[in-house]
Amino acid sequence: MSTIGILGGGQLGLMMAQAAKKQGHRIVVLDPDDQCPCVKIADVFISAKYNDENAVKEMAEQCDVLTYEFENADAQIVSQFIEKFPQGSDALTISQHRYKEKKFARKLGLKTPHFFKIKNEADLYQIVSFPTLIKTCRFGYDGKGQWLIRDIEDLNEIKLEFPGEYIAEEFVSYDREISVVVARFYDGTVAFPPFENVHEKGILRQSMVPSVVSEEVARVAIEAAISIAEQLEYIGVLAVEMFVCGDEVIFNEFAPRPHNSAHLTIECADFSQFDLHIAAITRQTKVEPTMINHGVMFNILGQHVAEVFSKHAAHPDDHVYIHWYGKKETRFNRKMGHVTLASMDKVELNELIDRWRMSR
Ligand code: AMP
Repeated sequence: MSTIGILGGGQLGLMMAQAAKKQGHRIVVLDPDDQCPCVKIADVFISAKYNDENAVKEMAEQCDVLTYEFENADAQIVSQFIEKFPQGSDALTISQHRYKEKKFARKLGLKTPHFFKIKNEADLYQIVSFPTLIKTCRFGYDGKGQWLIRDIEDLNEIKLEFPGEYIAEEFVSYDREISVVVARFYDGTVAFPPFENVHEKGILRQSMVPSVVSEEVARVAIEAAISIAEQLEYIGVLAVEMFVCGDEVIFNEFAPRPHNSAHLTIECADFSQFDLHIAAITRQTKVEPTMINHGVMFNILGQHVAEVFSKHAAHPDDHVYIHWYGKKETRFNRKMGHVTLASMDKVELNELIDRWRMSR
């Protein structure tokens, strides 16, 4: 049994903690919000800002190992306690900066959209092909901090703040979006098959497994994700989001943590992404996950809560797994929970998908 400290008490921390408890570990959670999803499950809860050095030190002293559940964790704080964080801090430094992240991917030999950095107003006018996406280099998530530039007029109208760092990125007309979630153990790396994802306005709405990509696309995507984890000497679960265009796999971004698109591994695999993350960071021997169900996950956003209650009341079903994160405040587009539909029977799964697809 180990004591595991989780920096961040959101839904990913909650599901990590649930997996850790199954494996017999104790949990210490640090989060500034004492009503966060992890409050009830933590053996010890430290209410402090994520970058409060003394609070992280207090957590480190109580724990055998530490993990962060969000990619905006302070890389400097993590590097101060680096012996306790098997995920390391390089994965944070790189994934927190979209330009560095794409350069890193290119250096590894992965395909990326064309991109360049924008440091001032004049750089904007290097954009010559449309549509192009402009993204903030830092702190963009769920589609925030992104602007679609469709033509020169949009370019004239956009108001960016300088000094500030942005990246201009070719808009990829992809056939599908996939993610590959890998777990790197001290004795090797394992991968789930690709998940196929649907985003709306930058927010993940739906993930599906198996995806319909070819074996070759799956192989290339899995190799790309493994190469990222290995290059970073990362330990734990790491997710890579990619676009698929025909037979081409194009890197979009990676997240050094378990990922929303792999929540369905709780019901669709013998070991979930959270089981693997905890096993890896606590130095257990590598385990290969096996998929045991086909599945689809829908995120429950704030606007879907009532709909989920009524769907569930109308059709309670053995193959429907509803997860609530226990967030106090319901807000539009806030992730309140998720529903996984899991079955080996494709006909049954399709019926469930029709019934459970969220309306807005
Ligand atoms: P990101 O925060 O970069 O993952 O972007 C959120 C979502 O916006 C992605 O999952 C895609 O659906 C879309 N997106 C991001 N970058 C691009 C791109 N270069 N081309 C087309 N769609 C994109």
